[in-house]
Amino acid sequence: MIPVSRPDLGELEREYLLDAFDSGWISSLGRYVEAAERALTALTGAPHAAVCSNGTTALHLALIAAGVGAGDEVILPALTYIATLNAIYYVGAEPVFVDVLDNTWCIDPEAVEHAVTPRTKAILAVDLYGQTADYSALRGVADRNGLVLIADAAESIGATLHGVPAGSLADISTFSFFGNKVITSGEGGAVTSMRPEHHAAILQLRNQGNHPTQRYFHDVVGYNYRMTNLAAAILTAQLERADDLIARRRRVVDEYRRLLDGDPRIHCQDTAPGAVPTPWMFSVRLAGLSAAERDAVIASLRERGIESRPVFPLVQDMPFVPDHQRVQAPIAESISREGISLPTFPGLDLEEIARVCTTLQEVLEAPGVGG
Ligand SMILES: *Cc1c(COP(=O)(O)O)cnc(C)c1O
Repeated sequence: MIPVSRPDLGELEREYLLDAFDSGWISSLGRYVEAAERALTALTGAPHAAVCSNGTTALHLALIAAGVGAGDEVILPALTYIATLNAIYYVGAEPVFVDVLDNTWCIDPEAVEHAVTPRTKAILAVDLYGQTADYSALRGVADRNGLVLIADAAESIGATLHGVPAGSLADISTFSFFGNKVITSGEGGAVTSMRPEHHAAILQLRNQGNHPTQRYFHDVVGYNYRMTNLAAAILTAQLERADDLIARRRRVVDEYRRLLDGDPRIHCQDTAPGAVPTPWMFSVRLAGLSAAERDAVIASLRERGIESRPVFPLVQDMPFVPDHQRVQAPIAESISREGISLPTFPGLDLEEIARVCTTLQEVLEAPGVGG
């Protein structure tokens, strides 16, 4: 079976992990936590980086640091992973869903502008499957309306837009280092921020609200969202290897694009002008398919030894989202219905990529699928 994802862990990860273990510093103090944060500021160009326990806690920290609370509205794309929405509910804010763009599958800045109300506090953009959202346009909307711009960059570490790296494209950006992400520490996350006051709040909230200088004095309700030195050791090694890991993923995606180019049944996610995405999961739309037909394609691929995934369902369709928060998002809906993510990881070789493409094309020929 060719899996959708496989972590690329090598000798360096092993060496750093054992070093952390042997040092006895297995909790959240230790030199790898600081090393990972330094590596993150270097990679993202952001002045501040704080690692934390996962990408979801990173989002939670970002929203609190941005001052988002009960009664505030946060604008987010209808098409994203559930964690983006969950974090908004954690702080008691109201999600305002908007549609995405047909080309990049990321949040539509014009729709964002229309969704702003006096209660809007922040825009939470998502770099879906590693394509950066349109931060130039979003910056304009945020500045005109006094909003905090937050990027859920869980899937886009290493991407750039007009030469600016993910992590520096918004006021606050969050990352995930889950096992299937571009850079992994098993479980892990990070928040990068441009303003020192946001960073200071994130550091304090991550560590039980502990006052920065007064021990056991807690002037805010905080969390234990710290990353262990063990996870940070793996993360540091992965970040040192980031250029190579990302370059090898790019080769995979370039090969997919080359082989599928010109097939009218298969539409790739586009890259915006000026953007260099980080290929997380190579995802395509199977033009005109119903959700049932798309699921049949996934089942047929599996029978032929290839794992694939549907593109995310719309988060607003989850049963705990109240009806009055649901909106029309026809573009997000069709991407979600037709979308499929194909195996994407640095170790995937050219032969395997060719096999995925020819198998997908054979499956699409089959009666009942894509007719
Ligand atoms: C993976 C992911 C997250 C959550 O990260 P975890 O580390 O799994 O908590 C959040 N947002 C997006 C868009 C993701 O892909």
